[in-house]
Amino acid sequence: MRSGINGDRLWARLMAMAEIGATPEGGSCRQTLSDADEAGRALFLDWCAARRYQRRRDRIGNLFLRRAGGDAEAAPVLIGSHLDTQPTGGRFDGVLGVLAGLEVLETLDELAVETDRPIDLCVWTNEEGCRFQPAMMGSGVACGVLDMETVLAARDHGGTMLADEIARHGYDGEPLPQLADAACYIELHIEQGPILEAEGKTIGVVTGGQGIRWYEISVVGEESHAGPVPMALRKDPVPVLMHLIGLVQAIGHIDEDARCTVGRIELSPGAINVVPGRADMTVDLRHPDAAVLETMHRRFIDGLETLRRGHPDIDLQGRQIWHSPVVAFDDTLVRLVRESAAARSLPFRDIVSGAGHDAFNLARRVPTTMIFVPCRDGISHNPREYATPADVTAGANVLLDVVCALTCGDR
Ligand SMILES: [Zn+2]
Repeated sequence: MRSGINGDRLWARLMAMAEIGATPEGGSCRQTLSDADEAGRALFLDWCAARRYQRRRDRIGNLFLRRAGGDAEAAPVLIGSHLDTQPTGGRFDGVLGVLAGLEVLETLDELAVETDRPIDLCVWTNEEGCRFQPAMMGSGVACGVLDMETVLAARDHGGTMLADEIARHGYDGEPLPQLADAACYIELHIEQGPILEAEGKTIGVVTGGQGIRWYEISVVGEESHAGPVPMALRKDPVPVLMHLIGLVQAIGHIDEDARCTVGRIELSPGAINVVPGRADMTVDLRHPDAAVLETMHRRFIDGLETLRRGHPDIDLQGRQIWHSPVVAFDDTLVRLVRESAAARSLPFRDIVSGAGHDAFNLARRVPTTMIFVPCRDGISHNPREYATPADVTAGANVLLDVVCALTCGDR
């Protein structure tokens, strides 16, 4: 029989962690560097206290628990995720990866396994990005994707500076974040989408992450009265907006992996009897293939240009405000996830992550992959977020197998 983690203990801890910052709807609110976030970390450290894991923190508040291996000098295998949540967060997003990571370490202890290298369990600061932007901050700084001084100046809605919260919790005296020569990184997470549940799969073998491009578009015409001005004499941005929406929808159907979203539309002045003078909208384009995303980008930019030429009375402006490149996970690690799922007779399929994760930052520095488990109705960032005890246990067991394959010399 294959050994496995203690599913009851993992589930009990997931439910206990959810009580920290519990919301009336049954979810959790532990926004980063809040008192609730710190209380969640304290509970996590209480659970670790009985073990002799070496504890380390850094100046952005990232937390690392090391289980020693035979060769103390060997590059560690990293596992983990985040404990912070959205204001209306659920019980599994991020928390699962951290607490399953602790299960892996404790299971190795209980089986008296000596690994050939250390294993570091990472708790990344501010993955969610709801209180301080940008998201995936702790891993971003550690991986050199974000600049420490810049993020320290970030402020929340109340005007509190991140640097002050770092100091309040005592992280300011810790060393600067850095990713010492890690061997690899593996993160277990709920899918946050509907695919695994719909197909009856337990394990998502995550092969990478979608590339993302964001745009802001403004369409400026001229305000006029809805009654007296004939249609032909208006400078109305709405017909242009209509073509733009059609363009985005057409690009979204370039193939079945494409995702195109018009997330915000604002008309001003926004009165029932006024032809708007201005329309603003946002566009989000995503695709797992960099070349296809580039094609989508070109079609969008060319479409904007065509519309601009066709409507000389209207001032149409568009600019890209963000580009997150396509992420490809490590082939060897992806294969280990697949092999574990098959060996445990768990239904699995390859999947691309539609949401951003700390693993995306890690992938720029070290071989990385993720393991997904289904979440009910594909819902997350919501108190209704739910994964079954069986799926949670299955995901943690796959994480255990991959870590063993990487550290127990039976690769
Ligand atoms: Zn997450």
